[in-house]
Amino acid sequence: TAASTPRIAIIGSGYGGAVAALRLAQAGKQVDLIEMGQDWDKSAPEGARFSRMDRPDARSMWFENRTDMPYTYLSGLDWINRAVPYSAGALGIERFAAMKVYVGKGLGGGSLVNGGMAVTPRRSFVEKVMPQIDVNEMYTTYLPRANSELGVAQPAADMIGNSPYYQFTRTAAAQNAKAGYQTVTVPNVYDWNYMRMESFGRVPKSALASEVIFGNNYGKKSLTKTYLAKALATGRVNVKALTEVTRIRRSGAAYVLSTKTISALGAVLNTAETTYDKVILAAGSVGTTRLLLKAQANGDLTGLSDKLGKGWGPNGNTMVARLLSGANSTTGTVQSGIPAQGLMAWDDSEASVFAEIAPFPVGLETRTAGYLALTNNPNTGTFTFNTTTGKMELDWDAAKHAPSVAATKAVMERLNAANGGATRTDMLENGKGYSDYFTYHPLGGCVLGQATDLNGELTGAPGVFVMDSSLIPAKLGVNPFVFITALAERNMDKLLAAGRLA
Ligand code: FAD
Repeated sequence: TAASTPRIAIIGSGYGGAVAALRLAQAGKQVDLIEMGQDWDKSAPEGARFSRMDRPDARSMWFENRTDMPYTYLSGLDWINRAVPYSAGALGIERFAAMKVYVGKGLGGGSLVNGGMAVTPRRSFVEKVMPQIDVNEMYTTYLPRANSELGVAQPAADMIGNSPYYQFTRTAAAQNAKAGYQTVTVPNVYDWNYMRMESFGRVPKSALASEVIFGNNYGKKSLTKTYLAKALATGRVNVKALTEVTRIRRSGAAYVLSTKTISALGAVLNTAETTYDKVILAAGSVGTTRLLLKAQANGDLTGLSDKLGKGWGPNGNTMVARLLSGANSTTGTVQSGIPAQGLMAWDDSEASVFAEIAPFPVGLETRTAGYLALTNNPNTGTFTFNTTTGKMELDWDAAKHAPSVAATKAVMERLNAANGGATRTDMLENGKGYSDYFTYHPLGGCVLGQATDLNGELTGAPGVFVMDSSLIPAKLGVNPFVFITALAERNMDKLLAAGRLA
């Protein structure tokens, strides 16, 4: 009967979707996992799935004519970005008036394209940003579980300490020390033994061959090697790739999803409407919020919370690069694509900065230290749906980003004062020294306990659950995927125990 075998759809296959798929399948449920990007494991043989950062091709960008990398220029010259075929590649960009959100596209979502940095947030900060949850339970049960399932490991000390591929991070760490800043190692899901073999030339190179933002062909434990591999092995998960959910509407006690399936070149192969008893939204902060705001605007879902669309933030992401000077300022002609260390200047105040030392693998000695700074910005953004254009809008702008820039600038100026060197203004858009117009870490839009109940069930739509980064308000102080995974584990435990998915 329908009651004992609910028809369940999961929209999106990033961290939230992968956790939901595994835990539902293990509970004996059959699920459709609907993913608008490619199932890369099926699209191409191992070793030929993803394109290198320095040789982008049809597999790189999600329906763009040109790559659009965070560091756009070198010495003000436009030779980083390249023309690419318009196709269903792995890296997508959601563009708003003054904010570009980078996202992963494909089975595995952001895990395909991200840097694999797998950081457990500071407990004191989680207590501040998510007071609505039992934080103790996160640290005793769900964060350990997420770390273990994701295969998180500390970087190999010999690689950071000796490999020429990590000269960039050693140089930056020495400069941190000179300025009185603490350097921390950053855990990752990359297989460090594999990377060591790469450095010995014994296996095909991935991290050490400029692979990361368009996907890693080897070495990175993306979700297709962890949660999704386990979920698919149950035989209960039906993946529908290259299939986008374009609409969700209520029909009695159930929900109808409209879908559009395309070819890798974008030709529409078919459209369908399918009814489900339970729907799990895991399309990411932008994807989930857009589907819901559109449904609200069109009257497809009624009674949703007026908090929907609110509490968004870019996790304080601010990118900056320093041109180093003096004797010990080489960053290496070869660089690993996987970051391994960061500058930690975090005390939960609004001046807090966690600046990850980012590689810039262009094959030349650039004497440049790149940083992705995560900051504690007090501002939040709001998504709204414009019914005239049919597009979702976001009010984040440079003014809202300013506290993040100020905090990052203070740290960079102290590094420059202690070591020499200067912030580069020839790499970002419009000659900026500090990025305030893009993020890798979109958070919020459908905040837990505000637009949903405390387990992620959408207010006004029983049987619809939010399971992804949209649940977390604006910032976490660290890269978010470990916490997104742990929160999904928590919510799935509670929803299954309460019988909400039966
Ligand atoms: P996502 O992982 O974004 O998954 C959502 C999925 O839903 C996508 O596969 C998408 O194609 C699909 N989808 C969207 N809309 C629809 C629809 N309508 N129909 C069907 N499918 C849909 N985080 C870290 O912790 N560490 C890092 O080192 C790190 N580096 C990053 C580097 C880059 C370049 C990027 C882009 C991100 C990085 N992140 C990193 C962020 C991290 O990847 C995201 O926070 C995380 O993936 C979000 O998980 P999620 O489950 O919310 O959604």
